[in-house]
Amino acid sequence: MSSLSTGLRHWRQRFNALFQDHEIFVRTHGHVRFLRVSAVWQKRVALIAGAVLLVWAGATLTVFVNQILTAGERAEVARKEAAAAASEARIAQYRDRVAEIAADLDERQAQLEDWQETYFGAEPLPADAKADGSDAAGKDAHPLKTSALDPRLPPEAQALAQIEARQEAFSARLLAAVNARASKAGDAVAKLGLDPQSLVKKASTGQGGPFIPWRGRIGRAGALGKSFAALEGALFRMEVLERTLVAIPSGQPAHVLMLSSSYGYRHDPFTGASAMHAGLDFPGPLGTPILAAAPGKVAFVGRRSGYGNVVEVDHGQGIMTRYAHLSGFDTAVGARVGAGQQIARMGSTGRSTGSHLHFEVRLNGVAVNPRRFLEAKADVLEVKADARQRVGALARARAGTAAAR
Ligand SMILES: [Zn+2]
Repeated sequence: MSSLSTGLRHWRQRFNALFQDHEIFVRTHGHVRFLRVSAVWQKRVALIAGAVLLVWAGATLTVFVNQILTAGERAEVARKEAAAAASEARIAQYRDRVAEIAADLDERQAQLEDWQETYFGAEPLPADAKADGSDAAGKDAHPLKTSALDPRLPPEAQALAQIEARQEAFSARLLAAVNARASKAGDAVAKLGLDPQSLVKKASTGQGGPFIPWRGRIGRAGALGKSFAALEGALFRMEVLERTLVAIPSGQPAHVLMLSSSYGYRHDPFTGASAMHAGLDFPGPLGTPILAAAPGKVAFVGRRSGYGNVVEVDHGQGIMTRYAHLSGFDTAVGARVGAGQQIARMGSTGRSTGSHLHFEVRLNGVAVNPRRFLEAKADVLEVKADARQRVGALARARAGTAAAR
């Protein structure tokens, strides 16, 4: 016999012991009756009661457990909903930021492309930003830091970071190219005896002659960031120096030999006194063609005391040339003339002792010795020819832009 069946029997005996046959006497109106409550009947009632109790307990427990579970689920759902709402709000915020950054990048890109197209056209930029940034002008050649990007942005917005990085590399190359060209033009200008820094300074305060495209526009790119302002400044400097180089009258005003010693103090042929001679003389036959020494706009055609018949050409950047003692004019006020274009004929009008050209160059109204321009070395003339091509292309690009508007 196993211990299990022994144990069961023991419990059964104890259970059976609870129920004994009972006889209950009931006395009603003097009659005595007795009710017999058998053990079997008691057991049945007890079992039914036990079953009912069990069912009730089970049901109650189920309801209770259900309630607990539902509360947990509800809390979970609420938590998820709150998280979703927070994430949605964050996404909405990101979306706004991303749109803002994208618009910002777009504006910068448009400005960079405009600058590249205007100033370089199809000319390729140097591949390496550091390649041309080693000279004095290259000290500004640090890459642009636009810092438009928020590191907390979601991964999908990080694509913007790549665009931004490419844009920074591009603008650094553009800046290096601009600085390289500006310093080349600056070197050439300095070799011609002019101070590049004071030329740029004068131009930025609006004193360096007509320079319409930049007037009142400087600093506009500053809104795009500090580095864009630096790039804009570099472009301004480059344009001033290249335009100055183009404006420098280095063309022969007449195909005759000049009296190279004629500039400066000398004996006045009329009074005999020592007097300042502010130009160079080119003796030659009457009627010899007189040529514009640089491109420009004819500012004066007529007579001036002492000079006789005079033509004056404004080359911009504060540079003016004067051609005197002429016998005839081949241009009119307001005409645009190219370098080497005939504007007059040699003569001996005014205070002149014989047929010759009196040639003067004035820088912001002050006479300078034209010799240094006329005797410009080949390397300078080469840079000047480059600059002329670029300034010409620039004018065409701007005219095209103006026509398109
Ligand atoms: Zn003279």
